[in-house]
Amino acid sequence: MLVVMRHNARPEDIQAVVATIKDMGYDARPIPGGHRTAVGIIGNDGRVDSARLEGLEGVLEVIPVTQPYKQVSREWREAETLVRFPNGTCIGGNEVVVMAGPCSVESEGQILDIAHQLRSLGVAVLRGGAFKPRTSPYAFQGLGMKGLELLARAREATGMMIVTEALDAEGASAVAEYADMIQIGTRNMQNYALLRRAGRLGKPVLLKRGMSATIDELLLAAEYILAEGNDDVVLCERGVRSFDTHTRNLLDLSAIPVVKGLSHLPIVADPSHGTGIRSMVTPMARAAVAAGADGILVEVHPDPPRALSDGAQSLYPAQFAELMQQIRVIANSIGRKLNEPLGSSTRG
Ligand code: PEP
Ligand code: MN
Repeated sequence: MLVVMRHNARPEDIQAVVATIKDMGYDARPIPGGHRTAVGIIGNDGRVDSARLEGLEGVLEVIPVTQPYKQVSREWREAETLVRFPNGTCIGGNEVVVMAGPCSVESEGQILDIAHQLRSLGVAVLRGGAFKPRTSPYAFQGLGMKGLELLARAREATGMMIVTEALDAEGASAVAEYADMIQIGTRNMQNYALLRRAGRLGKPVLLKRGMSATIDELLLAAEYILAEGNDDVVLCERGVRSFDTHTRNLLDLSAIPVVKGLSHLPIVADPSHGTGIRSMVTPMARAAVAAGADGILVEVHPDPPRALSDGAQSLYPAQFAELMQQIRVIANSIGRKLNEPLGSSTRG
Protein backbone atom coordinates (compact mmCIF):
# COMPACT_ATOMS: atom_id res chain seq x y z
CA MET A 1 0.00 0.00 0.00
CA LEU A 2 1.00 3.58 -0.53
CA VAL A 3 0.23 6.54 1.68
CA VAL A 4 0.11 9.55 -0.63
CA MET A 5 0.88 12.81 1.16
CA ARG A 6 -0.64 16.19 0.26
CA HIS A 7 1.71 18.43 -1.70
CA ASN A 8 1.93 20.80 1.26
CA ALA A 9 2.58 18.06 3.85
CA ARG A 10 5.34 19.02 6.29
CA PRO A 11 8.36 16.85 7.07
CA GLU A 12 6.92 16.19 10.54
CA ASP A 13 3.67 14.91 8.93
CA ILE A 14 5.72 12.42 6.90
CA GLN A 15 7.64 11.43 10.04
CA ALA A 16 4.35 10.83 11.86
CA VAL A 17 3.13 8.58 9.04
CA VAL A 18 6.39 6.60 9.11
CA ALA A 19 6.16 6.23 12.91
CA THR A 20 2.53 5.07 12.70
CA ILE A 21 3.35 2.47 10.02
CA LYS A 22 6.19 1.14 12.19
CA ASP A 23 3.89 1.08 15.21
CA MET A 24 1.51 -1.09 13.14
CA GLY A 25 4.35 -3.59 12.71
CA TYR A 26 5.40 -2.81 9.12
CA ASP A 27 8.31 -1.09 7.45
CA ALA A 28 7.90 2.35 5.89
CA ARG A 29 9.70 3.75 2.88
CA PRO A 30 9.30 7.43 2.01
CA ILE A 31 9.36 7.96 -1.78
CA PRO A 32 9.90 11.63 -2.62
CA GLY A 33 8.26 12.64 -5.91
CA GLY A 34 8.18 15.71 -8.11
CA HIS A 35 4.93 17.07 -6.62
CA ARG A 36 4.39 15.12 -3.46
CA THR A 37 5.89 12.43 -1.27
CA ALA A 38 4.39 8.99 -0.86
CA VAL A 39 5.23 6.53 1.89
CA GLY A 40 5.28 2.86 0.90
CA ILE A 41 4.22 0.21 3.39
CA ILE A 42 6.43 -2.87 3.22
CA GLY A 43 5.85 -6.27 4.73
CA ASN A 44 2.08 -5.93 5.05
CA ASP A 45 -0.15 -8.90 4.45
CA GLY A 46 -2.80 -6.89 2.63
CA ARG A 47 -4.87 -6.20 5.76
CA VAL A 48 -3.60 -2.76 6.73
CA ASP A 49 -6.03 -0.61 8.71
CA SER A 50 -5.93 2.32 6.34
CA ALA A 51 -8.39 4.41 8.40
CA ARG A 52 -5.70 4.96 11.03
CA LEU A 53 -3.37 6.41 8.38
CA GLU A 54 -6.03 8.37 6.50
CA GLY A 55 -6.78 10.34 9.64
CA LEU A 56 -3.23 11.63 10.01
CA GLU A 57 -2.22 15.22 9.24
CA GLY A 58 -1.03 15.80 5.68
CA VAL A 59 -2.32 12.48 4.25
CA LEU A 60 -4.18 12.76 0.94
CA GLU A 61 -5.13 9.10 0.45
CA VAL A 62 -4.10 5.52 1.07
CA ILE A 63 -4.07 3.41 -2.09
CA PRO A 64 -3.41 -0.27 -2.69
CA VAL A 65 -0.63 -1.34 -5.10
CA THR A 66 -2.48 -3.73 -7.36
CA GLN A 67 0.48 -5.37 -9.13
CA PRO A 68 2.05 -8.48 -7.57
CA TYR A 69 5.40 -6.71 -7.69
CA LYS A 70 5.25 -3.65 -5.47
CA GLN A 71 8.42 -1.54 -5.29
CA VAL A 72 9.25 -2.34 -8.90
CA SER A 73 5.92 -1.02 -10.18
CA ARG A 74 5.06 2.38 -11.63
CA GLU A 75 2.25 2.58 -9.08
CA TRP A 76 4.88 2.62 -6.34
CA ARG A 77 7.11 5.12 -8.08
CA GLU A 78 6.24 7.11 -11.15
CA ALA A 79 9.63 8.69 -11.85
CA GLU A 80 12.24 6.70 -13.77
CA THR A 81 14.95 5.05 -11.69
CA LEU A 82 18.39 6.37 -12.61
CA VAL A 83 21.22 3.90 -12.01
CA ARG A 84 24.44 5.87 -11.62
CA PHE A 85 28.03 4.70 -11.93
CA PRO A 86 30.93 6.39 -10.13
CA ASN A 87 32.28 7.72 -13.47
CA GLY A 88 29.08 9.69 -14.09
CA THR A 89 27.48 7.31 -16.58
CA CYS A 90 23.80 6.90 -15.79
CA ILE A 91 21.34 4.26 -17.04
CA GLY A 92 17.64 5.14 -17.20
CA GLY A 93 17.90 8.80 -18.15
CA ASN A 94 18.03 10.37 -21.58
CA GLU A 95 21.29 8.70 -22.59
CA VAL A 96 21.48 5.30 -24.26
CA VAL A 97 24.31 3.45 -22.53
CA VAL A 98 26.42 0.90 -24.39
CA MET A 99 27.99 -1.92 -22.38
CA ALA A 100 30.39 -3.88 -24.54
CA GLY A 101 33.18 -6.42 -24.31
CA PRO A 102 33.97 -10.07 -24.77
CA CYS A 103 31.75 -12.88 -23.53
CA SER A 104 34.61 -14.10 -21.31
CA VAL A 105 37.78 -12.57 -19.94
CA GLU A 106 40.44 -14.81 -21.48
CA SER A 107 43.81 -13.19 -20.80
CA GLU A 108 45.36 -9.88 -19.82
CA GLY A 109 46.29 -9.13 -23.42
CA GLN A 110 42.79 -9.87 -24.70
CA ILE A 111 40.87 -7.81 -22.13
CA LEU A 112 43.22 -4.80 -22.23
CA ASP A 113 43.28 -4.82 -26.02
CA ILE A 114 39.49 -4.80 -26.38
CA ALA A 115 39.00 -2.38 -23.46
CA HIS A 116 41.28 0.20 -25.09
CA GLN A 117 39.60 -0.22 -28.46
CA LEU A 118 36.12 0.13 -26.98
CA ARG A 119 37.13 3.10 -24.85
CA SER A 120 38.41 4.90 -27.91
CA LEU A 121 35.03 4.28 -29.55
CA GLY A 122 33.33 6.05 -26.63
CA VAL A 123 32.18 3.06 -24.56
CA ALA A 124 32.01 3.74 -20.81
CA VAL A 125 31.06 0.29 -19.51
CA LEU A 126 33.11 -2.87 -20.15
CA ARG A 127 31.45 -6.28 -19.95
CA GLY A 128 33.28 -9.59 -19.57
CA GLY A 129 32.58 -12.82 -17.73
CA ALA A 130 35.05 -14.16 -15.15
CA PHE A 131 32.66 -16.82 -13.85
CA LYS A 132 30.83 -18.32 -16.83
CA PRO A 133 27.57 -20.31 -16.66
CA ARG A 134 28.15 -22.81 -19.48
CA THR A 135 25.62 -25.30 -20.79
CA SER A 136 28.33 -28.00 -20.88
CA PRO A 137 30.53 -28.73 -17.85
CA TYR A 138 33.40 -29.35 -20.30
CA ALA A 139 33.25 -25.88 -21.88
CA PHE A 140 35.50 -23.00 -20.72
CA GLN A 141 34.22 -21.94 -17.31
CA GLY A 142 36.01 -18.60 -17.09
CA LEU A 143 39.18 -17.46 -15.30
CA GLY A 144 37.38 -16.96 -11.97
CA MET A 145 39.15 -14.67 -9.49
CA LYS A 146 41.97 -14.06 -11.94
CA GLY A 147 39.37 -12.79 -14.40
CA LEU A 148 38.05 -10.32 -11.82
CA GLU A 149 41.58 -9.04 -11.23
CA LEU A 150 42.08 -8.55 -14.97
CA LEU A 151 38.82 -6.62 -15.19
CA ALA A 152 40.00 -4.37 -12.36
CA ARG A 153 43.23 -3.80 -14.29
CA ALA A 154 41.23 -2.86 -17.38
CA ARG A 155 39.24 -0.36 -15.31
CA GLU A 156 42.47 1.15 -13.99
CA ALA A 157 43.89 1.40 -17.49
CA THR A 158 40.81 2.88 -19.17
CA GLY A 159 38.51 4.37 -16.50
CA MET A 160 35.69 2.18 -17.84
CA MET A 161 33.12 0.75 -15.45
CA ILE A 162 32.94 -3.04 -15.12
CA VAL A 163 29.90 -5.32 -15.37
CA THR A 164 30.49 -9.01 -14.71
CA GLU A 165 28.43 -12.00 -13.64
CA ALA A 166 28.00 -13.60 -10.23
CA LEU A 167 26.93 -17.23 -10.43
CA ASP A 168 25.83 -17.88 -6.86
CA ALA A 169 25.13 -16.20 -3.54
CA GLU A 170 28.43 -17.44 -2.05
CA GLY A 171 30.51 -15.92 -4.84
CA ALA A 172 28.58 -12.68 -5.16
CA SER A 173 30.53 -10.75 -2.51
CA ALA A 174 33.83 -11.34 -4.31
CA VAL A 175 32.27 -10.17 -7.58
CA ALA A 176 30.88 -7.07 -5.83
CA GLU A 177 34.36 -6.16 -4.58
CA TYR A 178 35.63 -5.87 -8.16
CA ALA A 179 32.56 -5.04 -10.25
CA ASP A 180 30.77 -1.73 -10.66
CA MET A 181 27.66 -3.66 -11.61
CA ILE A 182 26.78 -7.27 -10.79
CA GLN A 183 25.25 -9.27 -13.63
CA ILE A 184 22.71 -11.99 -12.86
CA GLY A 185 22.38 -14.22 -15.90
CA THR A 186 19.39 -15.77 -17.59
CA ARG A 187 19.94 -19.14 -15.89
CA ASN A 188 19.91 -17.50 -12.47
CA MET A 189 16.99 -15.12 -12.81
CA GLN A 190 15.05 -17.13 -10.26
CA ASN A 191 17.98 -17.99 -7.97
CA TYR A 192 16.35 -16.34 -4.99
CA ALA A 193 19.33 -16.68 -2.64
CA LEU A 194 21.48 -14.88 -5.23
CA LEU A 195 18.84 -12.20 -5.82
CA ARG A 196 18.57 -11.51 -2.10
CA ARG A 197 22.35 -11.38 -1.71
CA ALA A 198 22.64 -9.01 -4.66
CA GLY A 199 20.12 -6.80 -2.91
CA ARG A 200 22.50 -6.38 0.01
CA LEU A 201 25.85 -5.82 -1.70
CA GLY A 202 25.55 -2.10 -2.36
CA LYS A 203 26.25 -2.34 -6.10
CA PRO A 204 23.90 -1.90 -9.08
CA VAL A 205 22.54 -5.14 -10.53
CA LEU A 206 22.01 -6.08 -14.19
CA LEU A 207 19.22 -8.66 -14.11
CA LYS A 208 18.78 -10.67 -17.30
CA ARG A 209 15.43 -12.15 -18.23
CA GLY A 210 15.19 -15.90 -17.78
CA MET A 211 15.14 -17.65 -21.14
CA SER A 212 11.66 -19.00 -20.39
CA ALA A 213 10.48 -16.30 -18.03
CA THR A 214 7.44 -14.10 -18.48
CA ILE A 215 7.78 -10.36 -18.02
CA ASP A 216 5.88 -10.58 -14.72
CA GLU A 217 8.37 -13.20 -13.50
CA LEU A 218 11.24 -10.89 -14.47
CA LEU A 219 9.69 -8.04 -12.51
CA LEU A 220 9.05 -10.28 -9.50
CA ALA A 221 12.69 -11.40 -9.60
CA ALA A 222 13.71 -7.72 -9.54
CA GLU A 223 11.37 -7.22 -6.58
CA TYR A 224 13.55 -9.59 -4.53
CA ILE A 225 16.49 -7.21 -5.02
CA LEU A 226 14.52 -4.06 -4.22
CA ALA A 227 12.95 -5.77 -1.21
CA GLU A 228 16.45 -6.04 0.28
CA GLY A 229 16.94 -2.29 -0.07
CA ASN A 230 18.76 -2.06 -3.41
CA ASP A 231 16.85 0.07 -5.94
CA ASP A 232 19.67 0.13 -8.48
CA VAL A 233 18.45 -2.58 -10.82
CA VAL A 234 18.71 -2.56 -14.62
CA LEU A 235 16.62 -5.17 -16.43
CA CYS A 236 17.91 -6.87 -19.58
CA GLU A 237 15.94 -8.47 -22.41
CA ARG A 238 18.28 -11.13 -23.84
CA GLY A 239 15.90 -13.31 -25.82
CA VAL A 240 13.59 -16.14 -24.92
CA ARG A 241 13.23 -19.70 -26.17
CA SER A 242 11.21 -20.11 -29.32
CA PHE A 243 10.28 -22.80 -31.84
CA ASP A 244 12.30 -21.19 -34.61
CA THR A 245 15.86 -22.38 -35.13
CA HIS A 246 17.17 -19.52 -37.28
CA THR A 247 18.31 -17.58 -34.23
CA ARG A 248 19.68 -18.78 -30.88
CA ASN A 249 16.86 -17.01 -29.01
CA LEU A 250 13.91 -14.80 -29.87
CA LEU A 251 14.81 -11.24 -28.83
CA ASP A 252 11.52 -10.00 -27.42
CA LEU A 253 11.76 -6.29 -28.13
CA SER A 254 8.13 -5.79 -27.19
CA ALA A 255 9.28 -6.43 -23.62
CA ILE A 256 10.88 -2.96 -23.69
CA PRO A 257 7.69 -0.89 -24.01
CA VAL A 258 5.81 -3.39 -21.83
CA VAL A 259 8.34 -3.00 -19.00
CA LYS A 260 8.40 0.78 -19.48
CA GLY A 261 4.66 0.82 -18.84
CA LEU A 262 4.76 -1.42 -15.79
CA SER A 263 7.96 -0.37 -14.05
CA HIS A 264 10.22 2.60 -13.35
CA LEU A 265 13.34 0.44 -13.72
CA PRO A 266 15.62 0.91 -16.76
CA ILE A 267 15.68 -1.85 -19.36
CA VAL A 268 18.47 -2.65 -21.82
CA ALA A 269 18.66 -5.21 -24.61
CA ASP A 270 21.29 -7.83 -25.43
CA PRO A 271 21.22 -8.43 -29.20
CA SER A 272 24.23 -10.78 -28.95
CA HIS A 273 22.61 -13.55 -26.89
CA GLY A 274 19.27 -12.51 -28.37
CA THR A 275 20.31 -13.64 -31.84
CA GLY A 276 23.47 -15.74 -31.43
CA ILE A 277 24.62 -14.71 -34.91
CA ARG A 278 27.11 -11.91 -35.61
CA SER A 279 25.37 -10.56 -38.71
CA MET A 280 22.12 -10.07 -36.81
CA VAL A 281 23.53 -8.21 -33.84
CA THR A 282 23.69 -4.73 -35.37
CA PRO A 283 20.17 -4.79 -36.90
CA MET A 284 18.69 -5.88 -33.58
CA ALA A 285 20.77 -3.32 -31.66
CA ARG A 286 19.30 -0.64 -33.93
CA ALA A 287 15.81 -1.98 -33.34
CA ALA A 288 16.32 -2.11 -29.56
CA VAL A 289 17.34 1.54 -29.43
CA ALA A 290 14.39 2.46 -31.64
CA ALA A 291 12.09 0.50 -29.29
CA GLY A 292 13.22 2.65 -26.35
CA ALA A 293 15.93 0.54 -24.69
CA ASP A 294 17.98 2.48 -22.13
CA GLY A 295 21.09 0.74 -23.37
CA ILE A 296 22.51 -2.30 -25.08
CA LEU A 297 24.84 -5.08 -23.97
CA VAL A 298 27.01 -6.26 -26.86
CA GLU A 299 29.71 -8.90 -27.18
CA VAL A 300 32.81 -7.67 -29.01
CA HIS A 301 36.06 -9.65 -29.29
CA PRO A 302 39.42 -8.61 -30.76
CA ASP A 303 39.58 -11.94 -32.62
CA PRO A 304 36.12 -13.61 -32.64
CA PRO A 305 37.14 -16.89 -34.37
CA ARG A 306 39.51 -17.53 -31.47
CA ALA A 307 37.08 -16.59 -28.70
CA LEU A 308 36.75 -19.17 -25.92
CA SER A 309 33.00 -18.56 -25.70
CA ASP A 310 30.30 -17.08 -27.94
CA GLY A 311 32.64 -16.27 -30.84
CA ALA A 312 29.87 -16.75 -33.40
CA GLN A 313 27.88 -13.85 -31.98
CA SER A 314 30.84 -11.60 -31.12
CA LEU A 315 31.37 -8.53 -33.30
CA TYR A 316 34.74 -7.54 -34.74
CA PRO A 317 35.79 -4.14 -33.40
CA ALA A 318 35.26 -2.53 -36.83
CA GLN A 319 31.69 -3.86 -36.95
CA PHE A 320 31.10 -2.51 -33.48
CA ALA A 321 32.36 0.93 -34.53
CA GLU A 322 29.73 0.93 -37.26
CA LEU A 323 27.06 -0.17 -34.78
CA MET A 324 27.92 2.84 -32.61
CA GLN A 325 27.53 5.23 -35.55
CA GLN A 326 24.18 3.75 -36.49
CA ILE A 327 22.62 3.70 -33.04
CA ARG A 328 23.85 7.26 -32.40
CA VAL A 329 21.67 8.42 -35.30
CA ILE A 330 18.69 6.38 -34.07
CA ALA A 331 19.07 7.67 -30.49
CA ASN A 332 19.17 11.27 -31.79
CA SER A 333 16.11 10.70 -33.95
CA ILE A 334 14.01 9.79 -30.90
CA GLY A 335 15.30 12.68 -28.81
CA ARG A 336 17.94 10.69 -26.93
CA LYS A 337 21.70 10.76 -26.88
CA LEU A 338 24.30 8.03 -27.01
CA ASN A 339 26.39 7.87 -23.84
CA GLU A 340 29.87 8.66 -25.13
CA PRO A 341 32.04 10.18 -22.43
CA LEU A 342 34.65 11.26 -24.96
CA GLY A 343 32.03 13.35 -26.79
CA SER A 344 30.47 12.35 -30.09
CA SER A 345 31.41 15.70 -31.67
CA THR A 346 34.96 14.41 -32.04
CA ARG A 347 33.78 11.49 -34.16
CA GLY A 348 32.08 11.24 -37.52
C1 PEP B 1 26.57 -13.35 -20.89
O1 PEP B 1 26.16 -12.19 -20.83
O2 PEP B 1 27.71 -13.67 -21.26
C2 PEP B 1 25.62 -14.45 -20.59
C3 PEP B 1 26.04 -15.63 -20.18
O3 PEP B 1 24.35 -14.08 -20.80
P1 PEP B 1 22.96 -14.89 -20.55
O4 PEP B 1 22.89 -15.10 -19.06
O5 PEP B 1 21.93 -13.94 -21.06
O6 PEP B 1 23.04 -16.16 -21.34
MN1 MN C 1 28.14 -14.77 -23.89
